[in-house]
Amino acid sequence: MKKSPFQLIFADTNTVLLPDSVTLAELDKTNWQQVSYLAIDATNLSDAYVALEKLRQYGLPSVYLRPVVFVFANAKSDSWQWQAADAIIEKDSDGAFDWFDLSEKLESINRWIDTLPTFERVVDGNLQVKVLRLLASRKIGAKPIATSDIYNGYVYPALQPFFTRHDMGPIQMLAFLQEQKLISPTLFDRAHFCIHCDSAFLNFKETCVECGSHDLDVVELVHHFKCAFTADISRFKQGRDNLVCPKCDKQLQHIGVDYDKPSVVNKCRICQHVGQDANVVAKCFHCNCTTDSKFLELRRINNYELTSVGLNAAFYGLQTYFTNILEAELQLVSLREFELFINIEAARISRYAKSQSALAIVRFVGLDKIHFELGSKAKQVFSELASIFKSILRETDVITAYNESVFVILMTETSKEKADLALDRLNKAVEKLFSENFDSALNMQIQAFNVEPELQVKRTLEAFLSN
Ligand SMILES: [Zn+2]
Ligand SMILES: [Zn+2]
Ligand SMILES: [Zn+2]
Repeated sequence: MKKSPFQLIFADTNTVLLPDSVTLAELDKTNWQQVSYLAIDATNLSDAYVALEKLRQYGLPSVYLRPVVFVFANAKSDSWQWQAADAIIEKDSDGAFDWFDLSEKLESINRWIDTLPTFERVVDGNLQVKVLRLLASRKIGAKPIATSDIYNGYVYPALQPFFTRHDMGPIQMLAFLQEQKLISPTLFDRAHFCIHCDSAFLNFKETCVECGSHDLDVVELVHHFKCAFTADISRFKQGRDNLVCPKCDKQLQHIGVDYDKPSVVNKCRICQHVGQDANVVAKCFHCNCTTDSKFLELRRINNYELTSVGLNAAFYGLQTYFTNILEAELQLVSLREFELFINIEAARISRYAKSQSALAIVRFVGLDKIHFELGSKAKQVFSELASIFKSILRETDVITAYNESVFVILMTETSKEKADLALDRLNKAVEKLFSENFDSALNMQIQAFNVEPELQVKRTLEAFLSN
């Protein structure tokens, strides 16, 4: 089917730019296979931006992820809001410009939307997934810019339209995604924020350590060599340029010969306190509160790139992960902790020579395809898989996830032969689950090893995986 750009009409005042158009109310009924991108008349940028927000705050990925182009006439302001669209084009006076050149550039975004698993194309509305999907579909990182348009000083233009006033801000959201290892940061800037309102617009000033006033003068300190008297210069001044020592009444003639100026100090105009130190406070332009600078919030503002886990979550969402379900059911340990358990267990076995334990590796082949094939049933299937897993394990067994589809289990007080039997039961139960409920099968690779002092978990895993 031939695609063409459509104009998104959001007000009666919109200039008609294109023969094909769609209104905000028609978005969920649109046949997107006909649309290469949405053009928005941005003669009035703030109105155009509001229309973009409405689109991006939609629940359907097929709508909120669509490429959007702002069209401007003549002069363009340098507001960050221009960068919230996927592209901008200037409207020619005779209306002649190449709409189709952009179609090709933006088509990769439409192709990405088409690869989403079908069950993920329904309304999700999960803001974290939306953010990950925008980055994944555009193959971009989250890049901030500094701006005075927004009170907290930084904006991620491509992501900002997702956020309503009621959501946590993009900066907090990105920090949260970073914690989940879905995105990874590189430093863009460090900045101080008001602890009362989060504003970045702060007036830093020194205040008197005695009375708290900010009415300070910076004055020079004068040191008279002859009598060693030292005080701020105002104490020496008599007349315009005349300096006389208040202690010994001698006139100070030549700097370097009679006296020197060792430093500058603060002098309070209110209480006359003179001193080198002062408290630095920050007064907020936004909420007017004054905060001691050491209590301000110091934050790192980062560029972020998607990690491979983040890329997966962009496709499949965050909730359906098998490991998430297993984690809740079984308490997975980290690979590092798992190796420690194995080492202790191997030492115990060789010392007492009374019992045997086994290490088992289980790999689900093509687990990611299950998401595609099973659609909305995937979550239920994963819970069932987790229960099967649980049924062959005992309280004393230790389990770790090497990645999304490879699991390693320490089966204590179990010989390799017994472990093989248990794994065989696992295999059969999984086969049964799939043959009874679904058309597709889930292939498994399974192997058990004796736990011995020579056993190295990582090497064993690598050997297993390269088979
Ligand atoms: Zn003072
Ligand atoms: Zn003197
Ligand atoms: Zn404030």
